[in-house]
Formats: sequence, structure tokens, C-alpha cells
Amino acid sequence: AGAGGPSAIRPVKLDKECELRIEVGPDTPLRLRLLTGTAEIFGTEIAPEIWLTFPPRLKFAVYTWYGATIELDGTTETDYTADETPMISYVNVHAVLEGRRNRAKASPNDSDSSQGPRVIVVGPTDSGKSTLSRMLLSWAAKQGWKPTFVDMDIGQGTITIPGCIAATPIEMPIDPVDGIPLEMPLVYFYGHTTPSVNADLYKVLVKELAQTLERQFTGNAESRAAGMVINTMGWIEGVGYELLLHAIDAFNANVVLVLGQEKLCSMLKDVLKSKPNVDVVKLQKSGGVVSRNAKVRQKARSYRIREYFYGLANDLSPHSNITSFSDLSVYRIGGGPQAPRSALPIGAEPAADPTRLVLVNINRDLLHLVLAVSFAKEPDQIISSNVAGFIYITDIDIQRKKITYLAPSAGELPSRFLIMGTLTWLET
Ligand code: ADP
Repeated sequence: AGAGGPSAIRPVKLDKECELRIEVGPDTPLRLRLLTGTAEIFGTEIAPEIWLTFPPRLKFAVYTWYGATIELDGTTETDYTADETPMISYVNVHAVLEGRRNRAKASPNDSDSSQGPRVIVVGPTDSGKSTLSRMLLSWAAKQGWKPTFVDMDIGQGTITIPGCIAATPIEMPIDPVDGIPLEMPLVYFYGHTTPSVNADLYKVLVKELAQTLERQFTGNAESRAAGMVINTMGWIEGVGYELLLHAIDAFNANVVLVLGQEKLCSMLKDVLKSKPNVDVVKLQKSGGVVSRNAKVRQKARSYRIREYFYGLANDLSPHSNITSFSDLSVYRIGGGPQAPRSALPIGAEPAADPTRLVLVNINRDLLHLVLAVSFAKEPDQIISSNVAGFIYITDIDIQRKKITYLAPSAGELPSRFLIMGTLTWLET
């Protein structure tokens, strides 16, 4: 095994309750298939015999409950077998959640007990939050539930591009290669990859998303009983901690899963004491979770945006469009230069309303920004509206007053209202 080794098909035998941890090499994909037994990748069972192709750099594990033989074809950065995993404790959590879903389903007419589990997964960066969320969702979907996945990780983004908070129902176990199908996720655009840029805006958007989901649940007993799995960002100190508490509250979470941090767990237990219906559970972090430094994270963000426009396997063809400045209205939310004290009446404090909507002058500062296309019908609805998708600004011609942008498809945008943040991308 290891980088640079000859590419030959090789079998790997896995004993029961073991996992093969793989990091695909940097340049070429890896093929893998299940020969005997049963195995799953982050909660999704893999079909026997069929070759699966994993893209370069992907990090994942093939786990078996009862034993399996796998075949690998291609080079890996690393691959090794581990017999110590937290999978039993994870599947025990799943079993408890299943019990709650069944109880919720059995009492559809009671507004309280018809609510299935609302699980929020918290912990530092690289503790395996996204992976655990994924397993819990896939195991539930395998049993026929359609739980709602809420992704609040603005740093990475599993449902859509970074800088967003989003939700989508999970109707099938999540595909180990393709991830979550991007049918019609409910997406709110925050526009930054760290919450500190505008924590108030972040809270407003979380609240909007939570309220929209609540409305959807009212009319849908099935998804209400299936509940939610909420993935959070790894920011757990200071403002990050405050935002976690805010999210627990906004989504009415009743199960808090804390990955790999004693201190966070005891802090949460302490503050949530007053809410007896909220369970705080500490779970072990998997030894397989790979740490990613700031540079790797930045790269992952960039790949994610690329994937939005071009597809995972370059299978999408985005369209380059040119339009006049006057056809678009670009807004920024909050921030920006405040009025200097000297310009204000004596005694007045400069107010930086974090959710103030500011119409932006179109100029070359917009170059290489990723903007969201709002569903708002009027500017004053922009903050409370979810977004249809994203465009990427590739050229600004000041003289001719024309903007060139990349969009997932040709044709007119669903709205003239665009939202800008600080999310940039350099197409490579
Ligand atoms: P977090 O959401 O807490 O930042 P992730 O769940 O995204 O952490 O995990 C970090 C990385 O580790 C991901 O690339 C994920 O695929 C990988 N990973 C997680 N668990 C395992 C495992 N058991 N074996 C191999 N890789 C893993």
C-alpha cells in the first residue's frame, strides 16, 4: 500500500466490527468493490461485486459488522485496518432515535409526542460531526424514514456550497461517492465562512431556517416523526459557543451529541439542566477522523464551489452569461464602513445594524465573488428569503457596464436580487 505503489488489484479481508480507513491518492481515483460479506461506508451499505470509483483525496472508511472481503484497485495515500471504532456506540444512539421515531409515529395527533428526535451534533473541527450526521441519516433512511438534514457548517458545506446554512430531506441512504442529491434544498446565504464576520446575521438566518422547517413539519406528520439531524460548525468557543446554544434553542433540539470534548459536554450539560427534555450525550471521536489544516480546508471549500458549477466528475456544463449592470441589484447585508463619529449629531453612536441591507455599487470589487440569487420578490424580503442558487463573477466591464458571470445554466436568473458576502473562488 501507500503512495506511488504499483496499481494492482488487491484484496483486503476485514474481520467483524473492523473498518478499512482509506485516503485516496492525490491524483488518481481509487476503485473498490465488495467481494464477500456485507460492508457499509458511513452508514450506507455497499452493493456486492460492483466497482465503486472514489475521487482523488477522498477520505473514508469501509466498515463491516459481520466481516467482509474488499478489493482495491489503484493507489492510496494511506489505507489501514482498524479494529477499534466507536461504531457500536453510534449505532446504539441510532437505536434510541429509532425508538423515538416509532413513538412519534404512533401518536400523530399530539403536537408534542408526534415530534421525532431533533438531534444536533456538536464538537470541535475534525471530530467527525459530518460523518456521524451522515451515518445517523443513512441508517434512518435505510429503515424507511425521511429525516431532515440541517447543515449549519458554513466552513465546509455538505448540502451546498460553503457560506450557507441549508436543509434537505434525506430519502435514501447517502451515496458514498456522490453524497447528497441536490434536488431542492432549502438554502439561506450567509456569505462568509466564519460566523464572527456577522454573528447576528447568522442567528437571523438560523431562525428563518428553523421557522420554515417548523411550518413544513406542521403539514407533514411523516417528516415530523422522522425528525432532524443537525450538523454544526467546529467553532465552539466564545461566539461559536453562543451560536451553538442559539441553534439548540432555535431548532428545539432534544438530543445533543457531543463528539470528543469533555469540556464542551459538561458546559452544555450544565446550561441545559433547566431543560429536562434535552439529552446531552458524549460520544467518542473515531480514530479514523482525519485532521485538516487551514490550507486543506480552504482547498476543500474551493472544490466544493467547483463541484457546484462543474459537478463532481466534471459532468455539468455551467454557462457563461453577460448582462448589463442595470439588470441586476447586488446587496450586501450589514458590515461595511460605518459613518464616522464626526459625521453624526453630537451624542449619537455610530450604529452598525448587522442586518441592514445595503445596495452595492457594481465595480471590480465583485470580481471572483460567489453571489447568491435570492428568491425575494422585493428587496426588503432578501434577508428572510432562501436562495435559488449561485453565480460566479468572472468579469466586470466598467466602461460598457457589463457583468460576465458563470451560472449553472443558461437563461435568465430567477431573480434580479443578488446577495454578496466575502465568499470568493479562484477557478483553477
Ligand atoms: P467534522 O465534521 O467534525 O469537521 P468530518 O466528519 O468531516 O469532521 O471528518 C473529517 C474527515 O475525516 C473527513 O474527510 C471524513 O471523511 C474523514 N473521516 C471521518 N471518519 C473517518 C473514518 N472512520 N475513517 C477514515 N476517514 C474518516
